[in-house]
Amino acid sequence: MNNKPVLQFSTKQICVTAVMVTFIFLMTMIPRIPIPLGYAHLGYAAIFWCVYVILTHLHTDHASGLRMLKDAKHIMVSEEEIRDTKEYPIRYVKSMWKGVSFEPFAFSDTGVGPVGKSYDLFDDGSVELIQIPGHTSGLTAVKINTGDKYVLLFSDGGYASKSWKEMVPPGTALDEKQALNSLKWIRDMSLNENCVESLANHDADIVPHTIELEQV
Ligand SMILES: [Zn+2]
Repeated sequence: MNNKPVLQFSTKQICVTAVMVTFIFLMTMIPRIPIPLGYAHLGYAAIFWCVYVILTHLHTDHASGLRMLKDAKHIMVSEEEIRDTKEYPIRYVKSMWKGVSFEPFAFSDTGVGPVGKSYDLFDDGSVELIQIPGHTSGLTAVKINTGDKYVLLFSDGGYASKSWKEMVPPGTALDEKQALNSLKWIRDMSLNENCVESLANHDADIVPHTIELEQV
């Protein structure tokens, strides 16, 4: 398994990275204090500084390392995803989050995203968690905004950039129609001139790198 990209605001207030083999999106934010985060750069000590863990969904390859992060202050996952684990238990391994306290969040009708539902993480528009259903009901994309520019982390909405370029939806989908609809949205967002980068979790072509965004 390769290491995944680190995204970092130029002010270093917020870092987003994917973790080891689990591909969990991590987010650390302690206002005004630079917190570099990322196993590739700091080693395992970084996990103890983690404040927010955003689970894009709970499939095994995204949740297997979760218990290592159980002391994070906020371990967030959408209500829809939690519902999926109950309705479709065969798709999940619940022991992976045994002893972990989730902080479920509810998408609101914001008009953002393929089904118009999102959650403003810090209530300031800087980080949006956007429902991109299909692969799972609660699948969440993370959009990091600075001014008009943004970086989009679309998790398993497609398995690579090639997915939206060639419109190949994820192979396993709870709802194929929704998965295709979400992929269309990912494509539109990725082609937008304000999109700095759009990244999938499983894209083997991604080389670990840093993206710096100017804060406005
Ligand atoms: Zn998945």
